[in-house]
Amino acid sequence: MRFSQLLCPTVRETPNDAEVISHQLMIRAGMIRKVAAGIYSFLPLGYRIIQKFEAIVREEMNRAGAQEVFLPAVVPAELWEESGRWQLYGKELLRLRDRHNKEFCIGPTHEEVITDLVRQTVRSYRQLPLSLYQIQTKFRDEIRPRFGLMRGREFGMKDAYSFHANWESLDATYAAMSRAYEAIFKRCGLDFRIVEADSGAIGGDSSAEFMVMAATGEDAIIHCNTCSYAANLEAAKVRPSPVDSGDKTPAYASILTPNAGKIEDVTAFLGRPAEHFIKTLVYMANEVPVLVLVRGDHTVNEIKLRHVLDCQELSLAEDETVKSVTGAPVGFAGPVALPAAVRIVADAAVMGLADAVSGANQKDTHLTHIQPGRDFVPEIVADIRDAIVGDACYHCDSGTYQILRGIEVGHIFKLGEKYSQALNAVFLNAEGKEQTFIMGCYGVGIGRTVAAAIEQNHDADGIIWPMALAPYHVDVIVLNTKDADLVAISDRIYQTLTENRIEVIYDDRAESAGIKFKDAELIGFPIQVIIGKKVKEEGLFEIKLRATKEVRLVVEADLVSALQDLIRN
Ligand code: ATP
Ligand code: MG
Repeated sequence: MRFSQLLCPTVRETPNDAEVISHQLMIRAGMIRKVAAGIYSFLPLGYRIIQKFEAIVREEMNRAGAQEVFLPAVVPAELWEESGRWQLYGKELLRLRDRHNKEFCIGPTHEEVITDLVRQTVRSYRQLPLSLYQIQTKFRDEIRPRFGLMRGREFGMKDAYSFHANWESLDATYAAMSRAYEAIFKRCGLDFRIVEADSGAIGGDSSAEFMVMAATGEDAIIHCNTCSYAANLEAAKVRPSPVDSGDKTPAYASILTPNAGKIEDVTAFLGRPAEHFIKTLVYMANEVPVLVLVRGDHTVNEIKLRHVLDCQELSLAEDETVKSVTGAPVGFAGPVALPAAVRIVADAAVMGLADAVSGANQKDTHLTHIQPGRDFVPEIVADIRDAIVGDACYHCDSGTYQILRGIEVGHIFKLGEKYSQALNAVFLNAEGKEQTFIMGCYGVGIGRTVAAAIEQNHDADGIIWPMALAPYHVDVIVLNTKDADLVAISDRIYQTLTENRIEVIYDDRAESAGIKFKDAELIGFPIQVIIGKKVKEEGLFEIKLRATKEVRLVVEADLVSALQDLIRN
């Protein structure tokens, strides 16, 4: 491809709505352009990179035995009503009506459509296991689309679904998909980790996320400094704290704490650390108020809380509800001396406290010398908090937790019978009896992975593409287009490289050498071949590597093989 003909509007200034480097660089390198919030057009280089990644995904999915299909983006509401998600999915689901006033959505994910397809077409256990995948555009009306391709509203996803007659078969495919994902991200040269994720109702090791490590990642990953345990913060298990018997705790007493309704204020006022406090929050769980207790230095993990309470709808209560439940304004709630009975859920660490402080359910008042278990008995004690740095590892005896940041690029999940049951998707088993399919689902964010690759591979000058994703491997740069000899040599080299099937961009533009170098670095072609004075005077071609800036000189006869070696490695 000749650069002079390429639509690649590079820009020098950083766009002001681009917070993360991948977003900035993809815009600056002329790869994407914003159409609306979270909606982008891909320009030729950007689209080539996407296609490169998709090709890798396809190869590994096919190798894992999955078959490619292509499902519609526009999905009738009926299917989503069957699964119950038409009501549950909320505002991320883009809903629309056709001319007959029938309701549809733009698929944010495709469990319903695939389950419908399989229930119509698969009859017998002999056809199982079956894995199907597609690479397609999804739409999720994210509240905060941001970071360019990282969190778009319209975005590409590879989604795969597997169907099984039994759990062992699902386990085998789940493991194969996990290996395929490892292969995909390894081939892209990414530094990633597989972390345990929240697996909803199914539990166990039934959901994992593939995280590309990056300081700008939206996800916090807990990992042990000693063993291999790693989990998404949402899912990271916390080891129960040792319990203090508290038999020396005096009877509780109230203490005036004027205007100190916030943990920071009351800790300062009483001169005691947040660890001694019981933070009391009022939640609405399926429309019923629940008192939720965590230690003052901890935060509630709503995903865990949702599981413990087994509820779909969970939110912090309005101030009015807090007042009616505790009899006090927000900030002074506590588990002792409540005006009326209310469910109490406590984090395990709260029960480990002795002589604690909490709100007194009275304005401007706290209680000291609270002894959990003695002064209040929760209905449920469970792990309902976020893990923090320094927590003892749940899995090994000596490690402690650290936090890293990552970008979730893939997610594998054992769905079980959730969708097959809802849609009554059945096959005939070996005994000739109807049985619901057992399912798995497996997603990879296409644009998000490409963006994550940039987060991990860039420098002050621009992108440094891993070879596997580079839009072109080699950028042939002719330094002076006014020199007819140089141009003739460059044309010849371009032709030779192309004939040898090297992916090459030929920067034949009548621009200064400075501009060409800047663009080459910004776009991030892994290899530059520089054609300048040295070629004419000494017959030497300069090969420059983007990543290391290392320069090698080769004669024309060795150029093709030198480049092929570099591309292969
Ligand atoms: P997140 O927690 O980041 O919103 P998710 O759990 O909703 O992700 P899944 O439903 O598991 O994501 O979708 C599979 C994959 O699709 C994700 O691992 C991610 O790579 C990608 N993905 C999800 N949402 C977006 C988005 N808004 N923009 C780009 N890619 C996305
Ligand atoms: Mg999401």
